[in-house]
Amino acid sequence: MKTARANLLNKPDGHFVIGEYPIPEPCDDGILMKIELCGVCGTDVHSWHAPAEAVFGLEYPISLGHEISGTVAALGKNVKTDYVGKPLKIGDRISICPAIHCHKCYFCTIAKTPEKCTSWKTYGTWPRADREPHFTGGYGDYLYIHDPNSVVLKTATSAERTAFLEPMAVVVHSLLHAKIKPGDTVVVQGAGPIGLLTIACCKIAGASRVIACGRRNRKRLELAEEMGADLTICQLDLPTAEERKQFVFDNSLNLVGADVVINTVGSAAAFKESIGWVRNSGTMVEVGNFVDSGAIEFNPCRDLLEKGIRLIGSFDNEAEHFVRAIPLIADKRIPLEKLITHRIPLGKLEEALSAIENGGIYQGRDAVKIMLDPTMPEEN
Ligand SMILES: [Zn+2]
Ligand SMILES: [Zn+2]
Repeated sequence: MKTARANLLNKPDGHFVIGEYPIPEPCDDGILMKIELCGVCGTDVHSWHAPAEAVFGLEYPISLGHEISGTVAALGKNVKTDYVGKPLKIGDRISICPAIHCHKCYFCTIAKTPEKCTSWKTYGTWPRADREPHFTGGYGDYLYIHDPNSVVLKTATSAERTAFLEPMAVVVHSLLHAKIKPGDTVVVQGAGPIGLLTIACCKIAGASRVIACGRRNRKRLELAEEMGADLTICQLDLPTAEERKQFVFDNSLNLVGADVVINTVGSAAAFKESIGWVRNSGTMVEVGNFVDSGAIEFNPCRDLLEKGIRLIGSFDNEAEHFVRAIPLIADKRIPLEKLITHRIPLGKLEEALSAIENGGIYQGRDAVKIMLDPTMPEEN
């Protein structure tokens, strides 16, 4: 039997270990995907080091990796098309919504928020990757798409751009909540990959002015401008929260504060500051605090009711967001390639995640998006 590699996290706080496992034959409704690239995501650092109960009760070993681009290596006999009905054949480039939703529970059917599905599970944190079918995450040679509710989409763009489909779906979800209108001033807090993608998409969604706020990394804010930000705030130049708030109000198109603020920073303090930038009756979308970063003091009268704002948490993503993200990853107005700072072989995953955890400098330069390329020789 032919084998291939998967780089599995052996236990909470453990190590990434490359194992050789038999390549599965797809079941009648399954797809075997040959992975071309997998984006390395900051969330995986948390899955690595956070206590298991804090990260959705993971069962180790797990194969992480959920920003996956690949090609169809083998198709089950019942699989004729992708999720939206485009014909599929061997060799086609595809990506996947890693989360799986049941389409039966209250949240899938009545609330119409499948991302809160009561039997939510996801490729990229599938339990017990030491058991068959092993290839359940993006950090390996293959992904075996075996759950019948999997959402697979054919793409018509490069492997690099296709690997951005999952983070782009995160952005689409937050934009559907944001309801941006022409003439709006939008502030995007944070210049990580999600923040940078959000900036580009806000412009395409119709924002008239986008202000990007970053911390201490001026290069990231240059990148924010390349993604379409009209103005940037660097915390080195405006070190106090009062100065930054004044900047937002002075530079909002109607001098009343931001119509929409989208926080992409995983910090409770950043969330609190972001609320202060929203104009009265504006909208605040929280997408950054995907893992618990602590609590803030919140005054329901002053911070919410008096201002009359909409405050929305945007959790994860689901099929609709992926379908809507398909044209965005192919949209050449968004220079996605500029976000890719590193391309590494499978064996360098642990050191890349360590670098993200320790401030984001990897191989001597700022890591925006590291792409894991399993076809790359390990000696590189
Ligand atoms: Zn991610
Ligand atoms: Zn469900």
